[in-house]
Amino acid sequence: MTIRTQLNAKRKKLSILMIISFVIFAVGFGFIEIHYSFKILAFFAFIGFIVEVFLLFNMQCPKCGGKIGCTWYSSAIDFSLSNQIKYCPFCGVELDSELEGKG
Ligand SMILES: [Zn+2]
Repeated sequence: MTIRTQLNAKRKKLSILMIISFVIFAVGFGFIEIHYSFKILAFFAFIGFIVEVFLLFNMQCPKCGGKIGCTWYSSAIDFSLSNQIKYCPFCGVELDSELEGKG
């Protein structure tokens, strides 16, 4: 597994959770007048959305721990890191290199 593969998997998971949270928030907010419990649902979905955005922007390089997530949003089109980004901007590790074992 390469560093890019690992980062893309995390990013995809968080992005999907973020979209689901936003949809639940919008639906919950839209139905507040129908039943009061939708307000609670919308509140927790909004909190989840904020947490997921925070986690996305604070994703770390597995080698140096630099917050590489904040560099992605200007270049990535979908859930994956742009192929034009070849190296970690903090430590210079090649993103297509294999992950080393822990230790
Ligand atoms: Zn790095």
